[in-house]
Amino acid sequence: MKVIYCRSFGLDCNAKMKGRTIEDAVNAAINHGVSMHGQVLKDLQTPEKREEIASKAVDEPDDLRPNV
Ligand SMILES: [Zn+2]
Repeated sequence: MKVIYCRSFGLDCNAKMKGRTIEDAVNAAINHGVSMHGQVLKDLQTPEKREEIASKAVDEPDDLRPNV
């Protein structure tokens, strides 16, 4: 799974946005950024910004499933 840490953007925030694909994670990160950091993060919807956000995504093993 793809994970984007809010901290990667220099924010003092522990949020971690997950997605099955980079696209999912980027969308989650944008939603979070707009609602939580809209004052400091501008123009999150531009293609350039999406690319920058996508570049921060990291792969994490999907090993946190309960009841396996
Ligand atoms: Zn945040």
